[in-house]
Amino acid sequence: FKIKNAELEIVCGITSKLPNNTQPEFAFAGKSNVGKSSLINGLMNRKNLARTSSEPGKTQTINFYHVNSEFYLVDLPGYGYAKRAKGEVEKWGKMIENYLHTSRVLKNVFLLIDIRHEPSANDIQMYEWIVHQGFEPIIIATKADKLNKSQLPKAIKLIRQTLNMPADELLIPYSAVTKKGREEIYDIINERL
Ligand code: GDP
Repeated sequence: FKIKNAELEIVCGITSKLPNNTQPEFAFAGKSNVGKSSLINGLMNRKNLARTSSEPGKTQTINFYHVNSEFYLVDLPGYGYAKRAKGEVEKWGKMIENYLHTSRVLKNVFLLIDIRHEPSANDIQMYEWIVHQGFEPIIIATKADKLNKSQLPKAIKLIRQTLNMPADELLIPYSAVTKKGREEIYDIINERL
């Protein structure tokens, strides 16, 4: 799998109309700081195309990255900042729900969970929305380099149990540092192109 080019093509705010893409889309959801920008950058082989978010107040948008002029990686707004006003919380929910509901070319939804943490109420809600919209979520357990080999199985089990995942659903440990898990994600994308 080779990345030839990648560009940020479309940015949708709360009031923008979603694009009517005809090429396959692969979406990424997860709470702020989970490592979503790092993953998307890693998949695109770019250091800084997707913003890495140190600012909690960053605007909530859906970003479409066009890769190899062939498919889109879709960066959904990060959720879960306690500081955000209630209205904002509802906004990300509506945006994500609307996107999942509207896209006709969405192939997979990847839900990112920090491998060190038990999934939060928001994570569980996101997981359920994905299922409700008819997709089988693929869980990416991020920051896998932060745990050692003996800690990994326990952490994975906790995520599976908390989300109540069927045994045949995929959970892929990923590290932006070592790029562990990247080939597996490429394989999934490749299968759906
Ligand atoms: P986002 O808010 O979900 O887009 O998260 P970012 O990609 O901006 O990552 C949040 C923080 O976690 C940054 O300081 C990253 O450097 C760090 N980070 C992201 N992925 C990894 C990873 O796989 N391993 C480690 N050790 N740190 C990571």
